[in-house]
Amino acid sequence: MEVPLSAPDITKKEIEAVLDVLRSNYLSLGPKLSAFEEAIASYSGASFAVAVNSGTSALHLIVRGLGIGPGDEVITTPFSFVASSNCLLFERAVPVFVDIDPNTLNIAPEKVESAITSRTKAVLAVDVFGLPADYDALVEITTRHNILLIEDSCEALGSTYKGQMAGTFGIAGAYAFYPNKQITAGEGGVVITDDEQLAAACRSMRNQGRDNSGDWLAHQRLGFNYRLDEMSCALALAQLERLDEILQKRSQVAEWYNNRLRGLSDVATPCVPSNDVEISWFVYVVRLSPEVDRQRVLSYLNGHGVQSKAYFPPIHLQPFYRSLLGYKEGDFPVTEQVAASTVALPFFTRMTEDQVEYVCQVLQEAICKAHR
Ligand SMILES: *Cc1c(COP(=O)(O)O)cnc(C)c1O
Repeated sequence: MEVPLSAPDITKKEIEAVLDVLRSNYLSLGPKLSAFEEAIASYSGASFAVAVNSGTSALHLIVRGLGIGPGDEVITTPFSFVASSNCLLFERAVPVFVDIDPNTLNIAPEKVESAITSRTKAVLAVDVFGLPADYDALVEITTRHNILLIEDSCEALGSTYKGQMAGTFGIAGAYAFYPNKQITAGEGGVVITDDEQLAAACRSMRNQGRDNSGDWLAHQRLGFNYRLDEMSCALALAQLERLDEILQKRSQVAEWYNNRLRGLSDVATPCVPSNDVEISWFVYVVRLSPEVDRQRVLSYLNGHGVQSKAYFPPIHLQPFYRSLLGYKEGDFPVTEQVAASTVALPFFTRMTEDQVEYVCQVLQEAICKAHR
């Protein structure tokens, strides 16, 4: 059996929606863009949504739109996908990493406060693997210190914390629609915010710095081409309409895994969220005990048709972070320990119970063989 690490869930409805766009005259900046933005704003409960061509673009526009620039410090997590701190480097701001909580794998709020300096402009929290960060604590700290809170919720569309959507706790949040996310646009992302000025700045910057006058060759500010085309918007819109069904199926897959792996020695299943949290499952990541050689487990899995990956290598140990900011091994021991033990198993909306069973069998064999 071959089981992919991830796979999009595209139905006839999505295919028809994209074909409809191709038959229309609008391939960019048309009705699907505004329809998608309205739908995602309404779903998240944010006042404004600005759709762009990737989650990374969304984060970049938030950082730039907030005026975060050279020398400004932003506190963030080293255990994430690299884009969550690259967006700071794009603007010559300084990512100041602090370590994570060993259970939730999210930024540890108690470590944030001591990293705040007079140059700190914001905390950029990431809802890692779909689990919302500790927003009670983060909102309290950032409010008390009068700094901004930005949310990279690119892995957490539909997750809630105390009933409130991930992405809506700070000044702005980002969602992403790459094919491995809960829903996809092919490529795509969105900025959500209640701040009208920030939304207007993002809207202008995604479209070459144009203003609202409609004059195609009038550029008010430095902008980019971060536009999301109409085919992608139509695809994302059709996917968003199926989001509840998609999230339900993903929860079921996670439950199959949990039931099958709970009690298996040498494997820790993902953090079970507290009652305060509803998780939108993005990936299914287990942690292996130190007695198991992870590299051998990964090779065995991949050699038996079970696509698996080590999510995430610590950002601070990527070569350009080491050379640019002087980070080194040992700087964030929890992150490094966690990162050395994780295995992302195949996880996607249409995954069947048989596929889960096969993955777990192969994982069990792999662990036996890889015991030190
Ligand atoms: C997916 C993701 C992004 C955005 O990725 P794109 O490929 O640019 O859409 C940003 N941050 C995190 C944590 C992500 O997982």
